[in-house]
Amino acid sequence: MMIEKCDNVMIVGAGLAGSEAAWQLASRGIRVTLVEQRPERMTPAHKTGSFAELVCSNSLGADNISSPAGILKKELRLMNSLIMECAESSRLPAGRALAVDRERFAELVTERITSHPLITLEHREVTEIAEGPVILASGPLTSTALADKIRDMTGGKFLYFYDAVSPVLELASIDMNRAFWGSRYEENSDYLNCPMNKDEYEYFQEQLVNAERAPRHDFEKKVPYFEACLPVEEIASRGVDTLRFGPLKPVGLTDPATGERPYAVVQLRRDNKEGSLYNIVGFQTNLKWGEQDRVFRLIPALSNAEFARYGVMHRNVYVNAPEVLDEQLRIKGTEDIYLAGQITGVEGYMESTAMGMVAALNSFSHIRGGAPLEWPRETAIGSLLFYLSDAEVKTFRPMNVNLGILPKLNEKIRDKRERCAKVAQISEEAISRYISERKDIFPAKEDISR
Ligand SMILES: Cc1cc2nc3c(=O)[nH]c(=O)nc-3n(C[C@H](O)[C@H](O)[C@H](O)COP(=O)(O)OP(=O)(O)OC[C@H]3O[C@@H](n4cnc5c(N)ncnc54)[C@H](O)[C@@H]3O)c2cc1C
Repeated sequence: MMIEKCDNVMIVGAGLAGSEAAWQLASRGIRVTLVEQRPERMTPAHKTGSFAELVCSNSLGADNISSPAGILKKELRLMNSLIMECAESSRLPAGRALAVDRERFAELVTERITSHPLITLEHREVTEIAEGPVILASGPLTSTALADKIRDMTGGKFLYFYDAVSPVLELASIDMNRAFWGSRYEENSDYLNCPMNKDEYEYFQEQLVNAERAPRHDFEKKVPYFEACLPVEEIASRGVDTLRFGPLKPVGLTDPATGERPYAVVQLRRDNKEGSLYNIVGFQTNLKWGEQDRVFRLIPALSNAEFARYGVMHRNVYVNAPEVLDEQLRIKGTEDIYLAGQITGVEGYMESTAMGMVAALNSFSHIRGGAPLEWPRETAIGSLLFYLSDAEVKTFRPMNVNLGILPKLNEKIRDKRERCAKVAQISEEAISRYISERKDIFPAKEDISR
């Protein structure tokens, strides 16, 4: 099937999501105007004018199918992702992870985009949202003028500028023999309580205070911590008992295992509607991820906890997706203004890329009058989209791909790798089936224009 050439989509931002979206549309015969503010106007974290610049780590995460990140990569490969192709060509040895030579990677993406005959580039800051079709892929460091416009268009209160989140854990990985349900002074299942005795608490407090913190960027140092939202390590450093009189206070709680009030209690609160994910209350943190693994696993019930996402505190522009976006990633109430990338409420290089792919293909189908895409729920991409539409609005936080957002298996598999490999098999079958059912959206490789 040769696709005719027509129409024009404006894409704002040539980061990971915008580059993927531009290439996917152009290779299906759609003209694209890609507007990128760099190098004329830089963000506080980007250093070059190249497209798809990786602002921090050069690792795109795990690349084996026994990890959720690997499942997402597999799906992107099956859909001929430009970002995956360029990552493959600039790959560096890094065990099971997909690490890249960041300069080569960004050069390759830039070359492919700039040489595509259907993509026109404009280097300027976008300060107004044009009439659609438009894909806004301006990322976690969206310029202030554009962020203000997005905020106005999305009801004024559903756009956030800063992410201060506690770690989110998979419920299935918590040791329920060392935890109990209940709210302070009430017996219910609103909170999962993780008790500690005096020795456990004091060792935990000492390790927390001395754990290694992630460096803050200069532009983030200008954002002072709110007193009500201090990093947990900062509270701990104010005195050995400060946590015990703060987020870890044990009052109103009785441990059924001892019949007594614990010395300190870490509380976990439900994070998704399905109840598979729980966040640690009051544990917004700036610790390095490896340190979060080490220190938070000192809490006895969390000794084998799996992190669905780590705590972070950084500048991050994103929307409250369940309030703001429809299932096609369009701003609710608009016909063809899409968001893509991290601003949709996902977190991470690959998740952002995936949301670029989705926004592009959704808009392609809309332009060509096709049926709206219904991304299979069994896939990592479908699960991220499900999270964006279904998460708790009150506590909405950007999400990485993880097993807790993928559908539960019908069978019980204890070993995490085996469980993940099974999920991977189901997702691959689902995405392959979908690709063959929707030939209008997924043409054969030889029919796409490069
Ligand atoms: C400091 C920092 C470090 C991070 N580190 C990691 C990490 O190590 N690993 C990880 O997986 N994720 C990381 N992330 C999260 C995220 O995965 C990346 O930010 C990712 O690049 C997001 O992809 P994106 O396409 O949504 O946005 P980006 O890649 O940031 O692309 C957005 C583009 O839009 C442009 N733009 C912004 N405003 C305008 C405007 N008004 N007009 C025109 N162009 C505009 C920007 O210049 C940029 O090129 C980090 C985020 C931040 C902020």
